[in-house]
Amino acid sequence: MTVPPAAHPPRYWHAPPDGRVQCDPCPRACRLHEGQRGLCFVRQRLGDAIALTTYGRSSGFCVDPIEKKPLDHFLPGTPVLSFGTAGCNLACRFCQNWDITRSRAVDTLADRASPEAIADAAVSMGCRSVAFTYNDPVIFLEYAVDVADACRARGVRAVAVTAGYLEAAPRAEFFAHMDAANVDLKSFRESFYRDICAGHLAPVLETLEYVRKATTAWLEVTTLLIPTLNDGDDEIDELSRWMAEHLGPEVPLHFTAFHPDWKLRDLPPTPLATLRRARDVARRNGLHHVYTGNCVDPDGQSTWCPACGGRLIERDGYSLGEWALDDSGRCAHCGAPCAGVFEARPGRWGARRMPVRLGSP
Ligand code: SF4
Repeated sequence: MTVPPAAHPPRYWHAPPDGRVQCDPCPRACRLHEGQRGLCFVRQRLGDAIALTTYGRSSGFCVDPIEKKPLDHFLPGTPVLSFGTAGCNLACRFCQNWDITRSRAVDTLADRASPEAIADAAVSMGCRSVAFTYNDPVIFLEYAVDVADACRARGVRAVAVTAGYLEAAPRAEFFAHMDAANVDLKSFRESFYRDICAGHLAPVLETLEYVRKATTAWLEVTTLLIPTLNDGDDEIDELSRWMAEHLGPEVPLHFTAFHPDWKLRDLPPTPLATLRRARDVARRNGLHHVYTGNCVDPDGQSTWCPACGGRLIERDGYSLGEWALDDSGRCAHCGAPCAGVFEARPGRWGARRMPVRLGSP
């Protein structure tokens, strides 16, 4: 197999005494024999090192509204060039992108795209940012970092959509190259991470605190509410209390609706009433910006001033309406600041989703 060279080749691995090579970006710590792939499928032992077999390859590109990531406080209304690769380091039974995350055919199906080609494409299409999404960029860290560097060199920002399941050193490297991140907090129960995702909660909480306290990346958090599994009042209460205490009240939290998929097809979709109840609980616990997603709920998707209660950004799905922020991101009604990365005017991309081809298959 020929793996394209990376500006930042894989270096999070070591050779334990048992003759295998251990991959170290994420807490799975896969120990691999020659030729063997890790759980994420895309990192493989080739010789006495770990290779990222999907470097320079993508499962597809699409220009999305930034609100789709979801990021509601980061350059609202602007287009973001989104892409992913294949594989994942968690094994969530409810995965909404399982065709990509569980892919075993990426080497023959993927588009080719160098970091420079992706950054150039973002500029030419008027995208303000590039997002690593669809599958978790932690497993293609070196590719994501090179793309982020190429983007930043052209004035395009880098956005990570991730489950935050990674170790301390790669965490520091990865987020140093990001301008914004939406991190999944899939549940506030270790048992959920263990039984439903085949992972652990603690590394995710560490990532959230790290991004908020040790980086300049803008942070938002998403929790997909799954009926009976993580939608109880007690859990939502604990989760939002933890966020208010450890991340502060200004970090936006998105409660999004589950749709039956992958190995969890026996549960119903999340009712709108559940999303609204969760939003109420989290707001009562002090979070300023709590959103509902994957549903029709303009009130739950608009941004409201935490000081005066006035509407700052009207949203209906991914479409923006009223804009009541001044040039410096303050409430036009009362002058209170709104946390986030804002410009004088919102973008005009709207709700469009535009697939694009960058490279040859
Ligand atoms: S990145 Fe992939 S191969 Fe490496 S430890 Fe995590 S799951 Fe295993």
